[in-house]
Amino acid sequence: MKPISFRPLLAVLSLTIAAGTSAAPAVPDSSTALLGFTAEGATAQRALERRFDAQLSANEMRDWLKHLSAEPNQVGSPHDKANAEFMLSLFKQWGWDARIERFDVLYPTPKEVSVELVAPTAFKAALHEPPVAGDASSGLPGALPPYNVYGADGDVTGELVYVNHGMPDDYKELARHGVDVKGKIVIVRYGGGWRGLKPELAYEHGAVGCLIYSDPRDDGYFAGDTYPKGGWRPAEGVQRGSVAKMMVYPGDPTTPGYGSTPNAKPLAIADAKTLLKIPVLPISYADATPLLQALGGPVAPESWRGALPITYHIGAGPAKVHMAVKSDWNRKSIYDVIATIKGAQEPDRWIVRGNHHDGWVFGAWDPLAGTIAELGEAKAIGALVKSGWKPKRTIVYASWDGEEPGLLGSTEWAETHAKELRQKAVLYLNSDTNARGFLGAEGSHSLQHLVNLAAADVTDPEKGVSVLERRRAAVRVAGAQPDAKPETRENAKIAAQGGDVPIGALGSGSDYSAFLEHLGIASVNLGFGGEDDNDGIYHSRYDSFDHFDRFGDPGFKYEVALAQVAGRIVMRTADADLLPMRFGDFSATLDRYVAQLHKLADDERKKADEQHKLLDAHDYELVSDPTRPVAPPERLSDVPAIDFAPLDAAAKALHASAQAFDAAYAASGSKPSAKQSAQINELMGRMEQALTDPDGLPGREWFKHMIYAPGLLTGYGVKTVPGVREALEARDWQGADKYAAITAKVLDGYRAQLDKLTALLQEGKR
Ligand SMILES: [Zn+2]
Repeated sequence: MKPISFRPLLAVLSLTIAAGTSAAPAVPDSSTALLGFTAEGATAQRALERRFDAQLSANEMRDWLKHLSAEPNQVGSPHDKANAEFMLSLFKQWGWDARIERFDVLYPTPKEVSVELVAPTAFKAALHEPPVAGDASSGLPGALPPYNVYGADGDVTGELVYVNHGMPDDYKELARHGVDVKGKIVIVRYGGGWRGLKPELAYEHGAVGCLIYSDPRDDGYFAGDTYPKGGWRPAEGVQRGSVAKMMVYPGDPTTPGYGSTPNAKPLAIADAKTLLKIPVLPISYADATPLLQALGGPVAPESWRGALPITYHIGAGPAKVHMAVKSDWNRKSIYDVIATIKGAQEPDRWIVRGNHHDGWVFGAWDPLAGTIAELGEAKAIGALVKSGWKPKRTIVYASWDGEEPGLLGSTEWAETHAKELRQKAVLYLNSDTNARGFLGAEGSHSLQHLVNLAAADVTDPEKGVSVLERRRAAVRVAGAQPDAKPETRENAKIAAQGGDVPIGALGSGSDYSAFLEHLGIASVNLGFGGEDDNDGIYHSRYDSFDHFDRFGDPGFKYEVALAQVAGRIVMRTADADLLPMRFGDFSATLDRYVAQLHKLADDERKKADEQHKLLDAHDYELVSDPTRPVAPPERLSDVPAIDFAPLDAAAKALHASAQAFDAAYAASGSKPSAKQSAQINELMGRMEQALTDPDGLPGREWFKHMIYAPGLLTGYGVKTVPGVREALEARDWQGADKYAAITAKVLDGYRAQLDKLTALLQEGKR
């Protein structure tokens, strides 16, 4: 669902990939020890991995992609179901114990959509993506019209107002220009924040309808040559997408916290808290241009202007728009493919690997480029098992349906099997879109070393160095950019030290949410990207096989590379004597987050003081041009002292405990007795759950992880230590105090578990 945003990092590199090469590249045998293995165990594991690599074929992955993306495969389409059945047959053929789990979910599909300018001139939006020369599938039937799923039905007419990205600060700016949106239709551009927030904020400010368009500045001709000459968004291309309030809870809006199994009792549609109240439609820049051109009122502030050849005005009016959406609100079936290989020694500890298979139309990039890597891994693992390999722990491979509308397949499955997953799952590994470029990795920081070790053992197809060294270079170059964010600069500094390259934290936007943020299962998300032109066709009809074959990864070598990294993580976690986790990495990262929170409070205090001085001196009035008046900004509240003391103390105590654990783990040589290992792994596999609080985050109890969450206002973007950080950002100072204490308590519980583990390891030594 989420495009990988590792760009723009480096100039596009010259390529010498021959299309259709099949064998995986040779892998350098790293001499470093493998976390959780004895020295002999590590040698055997790396030998196993070489046999795994030999099974991977870029040609075969290319064939799978062509087959899977041959017809539209959105939820409810015949091809989506056929793809699930095709993959089921592959898993079975490869020796997996596989089945399809069906869920019946609320998934509205558009029956009628229309947008027209009714004054001062008439114009009817096409709302259609025409076929493109050289793209074989672009004219095929079977797609839904471009729409935003889970918007409301409605038939509304109103004056038009342009609100930039439609984010909270944009409405503040709008107010300074004396314009409001009550009873009006807003038009906003994509970008600046999560799509679903745009119509929600429009509704909260009184608008009756919302149009979201793709400005060519972001992913059209301003960014690069448009499709089919280049890969970027053509004038008629539309970004579809979900607008359900997934940061309240993802999954079927009518079954929060429980699975949409055939016997489940769903809520009435009116009681579903994640559905929007006003109609919303995504439109192309071809359709948006006449609407924006017809706006009068003040000229838009400079930062609001895109790359269309017009003067951007705010309105309201004289442009008047009529829009209508009418949907079929019937429930539809989704099909998750679940395949299992039972572990030989610890069958009740599971390693779960997933990628979704539904797309918005053909979905070649998103998600099928990740799906084919996952299939490659499954085939290779199946072959290893047939030739005698017995993984210690159980491996579960899942191909999710219904991710695009709101993480439906993964969430419903995780909710249905919540109890068993909390007992058994020790890792969830996700991927989604994948293409040429650098390895992106985010996840639970206790897994940071595992990810780094796997990336160190896989060769980058373009540069011949390890994908870890390429990632390190990308992180360092990103940190050296003049506009780099403080966190990016900090990551670059750590990467420059030569040890592990930091992994990012997970927000949302793909199928790991239910595992990490609802159940508290340690999770990782992987994907290559950054040298591709994906943004331009994201969620459009042009996300096709032909587009991917030209602009995504012409040699399919990065799908092989993804399978190599993901396969190593899965097999090492399945085979290690002790689970490959390091808690010092988590605690060091937490220390950074806590320092950020202190700085955030200090910065807000400074900002408020400075603004108050300007307001008290009437400086805003003095600089306002009387012919184009702009009102002073609203006065910021004073920032009191925040009580960070409990959080500081918890982080400090955890730091000491985590170091003691890591030392005891290293000293154990990964060879306690089998009985002790089982006891240690039992506890270690559930450590991440100790970071959850049953009461969850304020206003969204489904999200139980107290360290990682998607932002209420950022949607996909992560907020770390979310209870505290979001309270500070919302200027809810009491909330910040409250959640500093709650988070500290959770961290104290986590530390107590860790101390128990350390004691077990030390006993094992004696
Ligand atoms: Zn996706």
